[in-house]
Amino acid sequence: MLSLAEENYLKAIYHLSLRGQAVLTNDLAAQLHTKAASVTDMIKRLSLKALVRHEKYYGVMLTKKGTQAALSIVRKHRLWETFLVQKLGFTWDEVHEVAEQLEHIQSARLIEALDEFLGYPSVDPHGDPIPDKTGKMTTSADRALSEMSPGFQGRIQAVKDSDSQLLKYLDKLGAHPGTPIQLVAIETFDGSLEVIIRKTRYFLSREVSQNILVTHP
Ligand SMILES: [Zn+2]
Repeated sequence: MLSLAEENYLKAIYHLSLRGQAVLTNDLAAQLHTKAASVTDMIKRLSLKALVRHEKYYGVMLTKKGTQAALSIVRKHRLWETFLVQKLGFTWDEVHEVAEQLEHIQSARLIEALDEFLGYPSVDPHGDPIPDKTGKMTTSADRALSEMSPGFQGRIQAVKDSDSQLLKYLDKLGAHPGTPIQLVAIETFDGSLEVIIRKTRYFLSREVSQNILVTHP
């Protein structure tokens, strides 16, 4: 069985490795708000358990076993977020912190029952895909709104789940997963974006646009 700290490391490595590269110790330390020395210790522990591979000057990668463990935590996190919003009436900006605790529950039976109870959802309230019990999930070719050019028309696929202030703001704009969005122009002065959401024109900061994933219709 893995400790809570080990699980959090695996999850952080998983999220950082989605950029398609090995994860650097410093990036991991920044993500987990800890010192590089602590990260190095933990990487050794996880290597001994065959969960990660560490190559000097290159970085850390999850092994197959490590990926399965990380996906299982991600699955629990996203199922609990879905449960909290759909069944307990939490708003989408309230669930991440609670799911950070619930994702460490070990009962496989509970998680299978929860999945069935929710009707085997494929995405969570923020639009993120939920891995099934074998670790498979629907992935789409989504990219950040900030990478799009003026004239882009598509839909919001997902939004960053961990910043409740951002989520409250997006809620006010009606910027939920599935909502059509149009990029009209990009301000050269500060990189802010002029967009149309539900027939209303908004100006989004660069930072906000980096946390909205979009997909072509
Ligand atoms: Zn979350």
